[in-house]
Amino acid sequence: MKTRTRFAPSPTGFMHIGNLRTAIFEYLVAKRNGGDFLLRIEDTDQTRKVDGAIEFIYKTLELCDFKIDEGPMNEGECGPYIQSERKDIYKKYALELVEKGHAYYCFCTEEELDAMRERANLRKKPFMYDGRCSKLSKERIEENLKNNVPYVIRQKMPKMGETIVLDVVYGRVKIDNSILEDQILLKSDGFPTYNFANVVDDHLMGITHVIRGKEYLDQTAKYNLLYDAFGWEKPTYIHVAMVLGEDGNKLSKRNGDASFMDLYNEGYLPPAIVNYLVLLGWSPEINQEVFSMDELIKNFDEKRISKSSSQYDVKKLQWFNAQYIKNMEDQKYLEWIKKYFHHDVADKNEDWVDHLLLIYKSHLSYGEQINEETKSFFEDIEMNEECKVFMESDPIIKDILMAYKEEFINISSWSVDAISKVILRVKEKLNVKGKLLYMPIRIASSGLMHGPELADTLYLIGQDKIISRL
Ligand code: GLU
Repeated sequence: MKTRTRFAPSPTGFMHIGNLRTAIFEYLVAKRNGGDFLLRIEDTDQTRKVDGAIEFIYKTLELCDFKIDEGPMNEGECGPYIQSERKDIYKKYALELVEKGHAYYCFCTEEELDAMRERANLRKKPFMYDGRCSKLSKERIEENLKNNVPYVIRQKMPKMGETIVLDVVYGRVKIDNSILEDQILLKSDGFPTYNFANVVDDHLMGITHVIRGKEYLDQTAKYNLLYDAFGWEKPTYIHVAMVLGEDGNKLSKRNGDASFMDLYNEGYLPPAIVNYLVLLGWSPEINQEVFSMDELIKNFDEKRISKSSSQYDVKKLQWFNAQYIKNMEDQKYLEWIKKYFHHDVADKNEDWVDHLLLIYKSHLSYGEQINEETKSFFEDIEMNEECKVFMESDPIIKDILMAYKEEFINISSWSVDAISKVILRVKEKLNVKGKLLYMPIRIASSGLMHGPELADTLYLIGQDKIISRL
């Protein structure tokens, strides 16, 4: 059977990196097996819909270079791929379950349900619908339907025994049936609940592997009972542990936590984000950290997904991003970094700008950082305490700076090559090397202790500016 997976986001906020990681796992399971990856929008809870969220989902998947085999933008044979457009399908299946005795009409009003909730509260018990409508007579049901009494359709759960869920990551999970509520499948507005639509669609769309957050693991008992009620084959389940925020808390789409788009806008490269995320909760068999999408597809194995939750660590993401920046072709890098670079360069020529940006290529962790890093080329410099302490740490530093100044004044044709020669001459003249040779001149000219190639940096700051700063 062809492997088919789906990413099934609800457009209730902006995709965070946890959602994206689930999508990556789904994509890799499909592609590893030469299968299809589907996109399905789960928007049955219209009250929680957030404007623009669907567009963000499309954009994110496109930027991460996912090939969507079927979805709202490229419908296959199982369309539509947006649940709100599939309303009629769910009703038919809900009625089939009523017919088979696995579901029933429930006419309880909000007031009646509130009273039940209140009673549960008084007894300090969690509220669970007591199943009273499952006992209604056929005549009573028909009469209510004839009189258009509003109803929902509920799943009839077994009251005894247990249901087994088999999961690739968590193994065999037993769920006590007595905790399963007769959940609503079809709401009074005719919309299905997420729990119902999800199962119907996974079946109709031929999904073979369901990959989703661990928070759905217990619910899966209910889904299995639905599959059994219909006589459908169950998919393989792969539940994945949560990605926690840097503060150790659950990420929230609504609060815009660790949003993919924010990271993208700050200059994190989508393949670096994908690479970082896939290793957050999955460990490859081989000893390798940087993976292209093709390598991931070749090496991914869902059996190596971790059971425990992982924590988002921006420093580690920056390490990955830096590797990807370093590995970019110069021309591509320049096009990319110019989108983030905001200093006023009206009085500079293009070569100067490109030269500046290129010397930072192997020093950047993310795009926007370029502005802070290159500040000393555009603004007056200010030494921090650490620099000041260093500058006063050795009396020879004054002589070194004087030697550089003299040499720089004498350069008739300012070039990287001429500056490199000056550095060598100062080295010999004063018999200094290492930190003493490089650090004082770097601090005096840029106000910073570290930076890219010294000769290139000095060249770009410019002869006049350096002499006056010295
Ligand atoms: N619509 C669900 C969500 O966004 C998807 C869960 C699933 O993949 O089954 O959390």
